Amino acid sequence: MSRIWNFSAGPAVLPAEVLEQVKDELLDWHGAGCGVMEMSHRGKEFTAIIEAAEADLRELMGIPGNYKVLFLQGGATQQFAQIPLNLLSIGASADYLVTGSWSKKAVKEAQRVMAGTASVRVAGTTEASGFTRFLDAAEIAIDPDAAYVHVCTNETIHGVEVDCSRLPQTTVPIVADMSSHILSRPVDVSKYALIYAGAQKNIGPSGVTIVIVREDLLGRAPATIPTVMDYAVMAENGSMLNTPPTFAIYVSGLVFKWLKRLGGLAEVEKINAHKAELLYVCIDGSEGFYRNPVRVADRSRMNVPFTLANPELDAAFLAESKAAGLASLKGHKSVGGMRASIYNAMPTDGVRALVEFMQDFRKRNA
Ligand SMILES: *Cc1c(COP(=O)(O)O)cnc(C)c1O
Repeated sequence: MSRIWNFSAGPAVLPAEVLEQVKDELLDWHGAGCGVMEMSHRGKEFTAIIEAAEADLRELMGIPGNYKVLFLQGGATQQFAQIPLNLLSIGASADYLVTGSWSKKAVKEAQRVMAGTASVRVAGTTEASGFTRFLDAAEIAIDPDAAYVHVCTNETIHGVEVDCSRLPQTTVPIVADMSSHILSRPVDVSKYALIYAGAQKNIGPSGVTIVIVREDLLGRAPATIPTVMDYAVMAENGSMLNTPPTFAIYVSGLVFKWLKRLGGLAEVEKINAHKAELLYVCIDGSEGFYRNPVRVADRSRMNVPFTLANPELDAAFLAESKAAGLASLKGHKSVGGMRASIYNAMPTDGVRALVEFMQDFRKRNA
């Protein structure tokens, strides 16, 4: 067996040692006589699995006791609708910061589901500058009466990341889409009212979506909301109103244990900062052969888009990198060029292999 270096934006690479453990436990989980996919979500085995997953996530992220952790379905995209449906009452208003394709989709969906009921406002956007940076404080105008302000803290497509220490100071509850950089660095959860993330970027397999929500935000949904979409009902039922995505929760739980073995998020952040630096130094030192358009302070450590000065070489770059075992480097269709997603599970050796290939390709084509 030979595994590729997988730079896919998502579903993305998972830690090899986690996959080995899944393989070992696939037919018989800890002597249960069946695998996790086949067992009741209400049995004692799965109860232990989901409780351990939650406890480990709480420990890794330092989630305070007044927050609920929910394991939901529907992806981050469902949250684009579920958040306003739960948090926006009739006549209320919400603010959105638009800093890339994902936050743009979030505001569009909120406007769609709240049309005629509540107002959904853009409180700042970098669209005019091509989503190549985060917003400066002076460009953000948050309505102090807004029910919440929504931000995407890592724009997966444009490669723009903002650390919570640089978010605007506001008393308005902050709701954050962290799908593509959750668990990549420590975060002060108490600065947020709600954090959400689809699993398939930096957590585990697709199918589970994690929502971390402060308790005072629960119970605001109108009585007409579909039951499975009501955060309060899901919280009361320990995410098990109906059948949860059991296998995805199980694998995510193994990833949490792997992150703990690495030493927790402060250690993981060091590794990620180093990996990102290797790649950005290669790009910036290429005398314009490669280019990343994002303002340096806002560059993502997880998703690194880059273009070639001569786009006629794109096809050769992709074909030759693939032949060298470096996969899924094609950029998103809306941005073009290349994108290397270097999530937690991408080993430093994979980034080194990419950098070596890029240097060699440049030598041969400059
Ligand atoms: C991938 C992604 C989404 C969409 O996730 P789905 O799980 O496919 O719905 C939303 N936001 C961000 C930041 C993403 O990276």
